[in-house]
Amino acid sequence: MTEPHTEAVFVDTLNNIASGVTDLVGFEVAAISVARDDDRSLEMIAVAGSDECREQLLGHRTPVAEIEREISTAEHWGDLRFIPHERMDLDIDRLGWVPDLEPSDDPEMWHPLDLLLAPIYDDDGRLRGLLSVDVPLDRRRPNPQKRQDLQRFVQQTRRALLAALERTELAEQVRLAEAARMIVREVSSELSMDRIIEVCQEALTVGFKAIGMWIQTFDEDGEGSGAIYNSAGAEIALPEDLRIIARNSARMLWRAQDVTVLNDTIPELGVMTVDQEQEITSFMKSIDVTSMLFVPLGAGPECLGNLVLTRRGGNLDWSPIEKQAAMDIGHDLGRALINARTFERERRLVDELRELDGYKSRLIATISHELKNPLTSILGHVEMLESVPDLTGSVRNSISSMERGAVRMQRLIDDLLVLARVGDPHIEFKPVPVDLSAVIAEVLDLLRVTLERKELKVVVEAPPGPLFVLGEESGLDRVCANLISNAAKYTPDGGTVTISLETRAKDVELRVSDTGLGISEGDQAQLFQEFFRSTNPAAVALPGTGLGLTIVQRIVERHRGRISFGSTLGVGTTFTVSLPRAD
Ligand code: ADP
Repeated sequence: MTEPHTEAVFVDTLNNIASGVTDLVGFEVAAISVARDDDRSLEMIAVAGSDECREQLLGHRTPVAEIEREISTAEHWGDLRFIPHERMDLDIDRLGWVPDLEPSDDPEMWHPLDLLLAPIYDDDGRLRGLLSVDVPLDRRRPNPQKRQDLQRFVQQTRRALLAALERTELAEQVRLAEAARMIVREVSSELSMDRIIEVCQEALTVGFKAIGMWIQTFDEDGEGSGAIYNSAGAEIALPEDLRIIARNSARMLWRAQDVTVLNDTIPELGVMTVDQEQEITSFMKSIDVTSMLFVPLGAGPECLGNLVLTRRGGNLDWSPIEKQAAMDIGHDLGRALINARTFERERRLVDELRELDGYKSRLIATISHELKNPLTSILGHVEMLESVPDLTGSVRNSISSMERGAVRMQRLIDDLLVLARVGDPHIEFKPVPVDLSAVIAEVLDLLRVTLERKELKVVVEAPPGPLFVLGEESGLDRVCANLISNAAKYTPDGGTVTISLETRAKDVELRVSDTGLGISEGDQAQLFQEFFRSTNPAAVALPGTGLGLTIVQRIVERHRGRISFGSTLGVGTTFTVSLPRAD
């Protein structure tokens, strides 16, 4: 029975019926029992009779199997079952109460060991309760009239009992459906096991009236016994061999799509050795629980773990509705486990990749540094040689080609150093407000000679005054310089380079357009790749390392910005960069 209030009303109704039987039909004792323990036993919950017999009978439990065996030998009186004492083989001690009557051999007379019962079956034929009477006031075995009177009360008992059980089951169903709904809603967005436990802990323990719970997840390779996640405040240290038993049992149950109950007396699994059973019962004692509902968790054919809900004290039953709800939850939690596992795997992978990336960056930085010094020395000596008088033409040619090569190498090393720095996840990003208008003005100033030499028209479209973005000044400077110098480099003499700045809701948008060579569709797909240089001969003829746009893209990503471009071969190219506004 769920609500104490409903239970009290229910018991009152049954007590009234029992009193009706004693007062109106004429028996000293009438008792009504209801099914408990998952319908495995009947408990007397309403008794009309003397105080002494009430005291002895209330709460008395009889196994259903025993009652059914007894009934099978009974005489049928309509809904009533009469077992004359001579046919009865029930253990007298188990009857609960035997009236203090003088036995008589007269077949008309009531014998102290006679039994008169009315089993109450539900529409599915399940035994749900029992009305039993004892000691007729006239001390005679009931005649047909009296049996008929009694029969009316049997009908009343049946109606009251089934209605109450139905109400209880309905309430239970609603309660558990609510728990399950909450779990599905809360758990599906959680990606760590600790959080999953945290959010479903309350719904599960309240919904199932449990005192505690834990979840065991199995290792992905299916070999190890897996990890245990406890609900708050209950540190369960499950010994390794019990974890293995649990894992094997969960797999078996998942295959059967079933849950199981473990009581401190009889484990229900039936797959364990006596030693293992003992180990489980002593483990349950050590954590002070008397009953556990063991639920496999899984998704598709795969069993991923198990959920254990615990109870302590008298409330040992897990109803069929609870078991069904637990099985459903096993599916929901199983899906959540899959998500958490995938997320965990991805996170590990990302960490590894990041580590690898960091290593690559550090390696490039070290090599570049090592190359820088000898290169500076080479360039110094080349310059010195150039100033030597009276060099022959061919020597002079060799020296200047050495110089060009060394300058190219220097540019490459500089770019590699920048690339290593912007790609190193260990270098902290420390953004400050940076005025992008000022950065562009500086870049244009530095490029002025080139722009003038190529007679390029430069158009700047920007709102007046500063325009702040949140970022690192050196990085933003690099982005603007690369995009504008590329536009200048890949645009033939006399073309136009347009730089525009616009504020958007959360971003500032920088656009660099040119009327230059444009980029073929084939090249566009690889533009941001390290060392990629165009397949267009006109573009490759110009000096470059193929690292500029890779660096730009890394810096933009570091700023949590976006970069895109549009280009038409022979017409021109536009690069668009969005960066977070500083205000
Ligand atoms: P680099 O300019 O040093 O070769 P980048 O990474 O800056 O390296 O550019 C990669 C390639 O993209 C260039 O080789 C060029 O072919 C192409 N590219 C970049 N910007 C433009 C542009 N504005 N117009 C045409 N092609 C461009």
